[in-house]
Amino acid sequence: MNEPNTVFTEEVSQGFAKGHCPTCSLVAEFQERLIAGTQPAEISTLCNYHAWMMAKGAPADRAAKVFLDLLERSKNSTGSSRDDACTFCEQLRAHELVRLEEMREEFKRPRVQEWMKLHVSFCLKHASQLDHLLTPSMRQLLLETSVRSHNELKQELNILLEHLRRGDRTGWGVLGRAAEFLTSRRGMRRGG
Ligand SMILES: [Zn+2]
Ligand SMILES: [Zn+2]
Repeated sequence: MNEPNTVFTEEVSQGFAKGHCPTCSLVAEFQERLIAGTQPAEISTLCNYHAWMMAKGAPADRAAKVFLDLLERSKNSTGSSRDDACTFCEQLRAHELVRLEEMREEFKRPRVQEWMKLHVSFCLKHASQLDHLLTPSMRQLLLETSVRSHNELKQELNILLEHLRRGDRTGWGVLGRAAEFLTSRRGMRRGG
């Protein structure tokens, strides 16, 4: 069977910026669309992170309507809403599972496997979720990518420290990649 010209299917390849978790990137893109497009009536609860994302990132009229609605719902209550019932978090978890299933299919393709070995860094959460979906040989490949990412980050963090000691901020972008590797992209909860 002929392989297409690109390493990945078009949909998934959008998530493969070097040094970043592809699943985080794909889910983050979905999150942007949720924040911009969800109708106020569809939102029943927001966690701390998504309430702030709504305040800062959504069109102001939509955000105002969402907050009016949430104020109305909470007017007879003295307790704060539960973070774990957040409408966006629930939708992100469902989308995450779809993306992980897609990734499992990508792992079966030899060209993808070669690319993974050299370039892909899954965050710890998505690596652990993916691990449950893969065959033993693919799990070995996933482990190799994790070990490589781990070593690369340590090396880059040490280089950054050396630069900073000389008053030079070159390479500070590694801080965001380290945060993503350890805890996933902002807004993605553990568990899921
Ligand atoms: Zn991730
Ligand atoms: Zn949330």
